Amino acid sequence: MQREKEDELLDIIIVGGGINGAGIAADASGRGLKVALFEAKDFASATSSASSKLLHGGLRYLEHYDFRLVSEALAEREIILRKAPHIVKGMRFRLPHRPFLRPAWMIRMGLFLYDHLGKRSILGSSHQVDLAVSGLFKKDINIGFEYSDCWVDDARLVILNVIDAKERGAEVHNYCRVVNAEDREGIWHVSIVDETSGRHFIRKSKVLVNATGPWVKQFFDEHLKTTSPRNIRLVKGSHIVVPKIHNEEYAYILQNRDERIVFVIPYLHDFSMIGTTDVSYEGDPREVEVSVDEINYLINVVNDHFVKQINKSDIVWSYSGVRPLCDNGTNSPQTITRDYTLTLQQNMNKAPLLSIFGGKLTTYRRLAESAMLHLASFFPSAGGPWTEYEALPGGDFSCSKEQLCKNIRSDFPWLNISTAKRYIDQYGTLAWKIFKDVHEEEDMGMFFATGVYAREIDYLIEYEFVKKLDDMLWRRTKLGIYLSDDQKLAIASYMKLKI
Ligand SMILES: Cc1cc2nc3c(=O)[nH]c(=O)nc-3n(C[C@H](O)[C@H](O)[C@H](O)COP(=O)(O)OP(=O)(O)OC[C@H]3O[C@@H](n4cnc5c(N)ncnc54)[C@H](O)[C@@H]3O)c2cc1C
Repeated sequence: MQREKEDELLDIIIVGGGINGAGIAADASGRGLKVALFEAKDFASATSSASSKLLHGGLRYLEHYDFRLVSEALAEREIILRKAPHIVKGMRFRLPHRPFLRPAWMIRMGLFLYDHLGKRSILGSSHQVDLAVSGLFKKDINIGFEYSDCWVDDARLVILNVIDAKERGAEVHNYCRVVNAEDREGIWHVSIVDETSGRHFIRKSKVLVNATGPWVKQFFDEHLKTTSPRNIRLVKGSHIVVPKIHNEEYAYILQNRDERIVFVIPYLHDFSMIGTTDVSYEGDPREVEVSVDEINYLINVVNDHFVKQINKSDIVWSYSGVRPLCDNGTNSPQTITRDYTLTLQQNMNKAPLLSIFGGKLTTYRRLAESAMLHLASFFPSAGGPWTEYEALPGGDFSCSKEQLCKNIRSDFPWLNISTAKRYIDQYGTLAWKIFKDVHEEEDMGMFFATGVYAREIDYLIEYEFVKKLDDMLWRRTKLGIYLSDDQKLAIASYMKLKI
């Protein structure tokens, strides 16, 4: 980073490049503010790539009377679907009925509210379905209920917001850890260590935003050296991925005997993703791992419902994350509210500090708008809300994804269908950037695996902040599931030459 930039006074420094930090960075820079975003590891490397990948109202939260959260989240599904139609899709969910757990009238009432609490014009409404005909379920499961929600590529939702922020003028840095923040005469002096070079530098801003998710309280203790105004509860959730259990396009929402629910979601065409768990967590959020008990729990719920039985040897991938939840004094991890709280601290002549407690992927855009509302008095000439109708990078198309696939194959006829589909699913119209000055397959550079060429890696390094192998394999793409160890090594060697 150049010296003159380091001396510049920024409007806002945001600490934490998960969905909430990235969403605030995009929103604030789109309003004309001078913003810098610092992420200690890779963007989306913590909770925001470890979710169930749903944009949902949260049917279950109705049982806890979380109506504010549910109605906001329901409305956000279609807004984000419109903003990012490449990485978001509508999905139908089926809930097998088990009368000894929740009576049919209760589910019907919940689904009626779910259909009507939030604005909805694309996603279909709910109804009862005959599940016996599918032959997928055990004999005692005959009927079910069907409703709509959305699926999202969570890590890419973060990256698209980071790209958006950068395109609107923000500075964005991954692998840059904030190690100290001091208020000196009403200006934040923020110390940062670049983990890739070891370089230590200081940036200054009028406002500091603590969007460190599971680390929000720790950030107060260790880097601000003050007491956090709120408590946070860390609740671990894990998922397992197995070869697909069924060929249907539906996701299933299974009710377990402990009254929790577990999703079985179609994933990457070949797999079913199963999760999640809710386990109180006290360790380092970076070290979170799926436990044997969680694996057994998830397998048992699936085997309790489906005719096809699964076991541990079917697992091709698993991941865990830690939910940073606002502590509302409840004991049971699944009943703690999933809603968010923003706390602004600003005493006389002191630099303002805004901290984010809780928040879901689904509501990130509204959370960012709320953050801007909290900060409005400090930036009277900043623009107003704008994110509702603007597409995220790559989402600026009005045709179907199938048509976009056809378009790219007509421009590059040697591209096979599955690669074209992967590019469109991941990049939308950004895919054309990969093909800059490409006329034939040879121009794509080194070939690593079917559909994986040097060109894509170059693009990811240049435009999507890829610095390490895992950034590419597990967050910008999910090629990590498909590639062999030798292929991964070859990509790692190529990246070493480029970075
Ligand atoms: C199992 C599970 C399932 C979920 N499913 C869903 C779902 O289906 N739908 C949904 O809407 N929500 C879901 N959520 C919730 C959602 O994933 C989280 O609420 C959201 O990702 C939190 O984002 P965040 O930006 O607050 O935190 P994070 O994504 O954790 O980001 C915080 C970032 O701050 C960085 N950081 C920390 N300290 C520093 C520092 N000193 N300097 C710089 N950077 C720092 C960290 O490295 C991290 O990347 C789920 C969560 C879990 C755990």
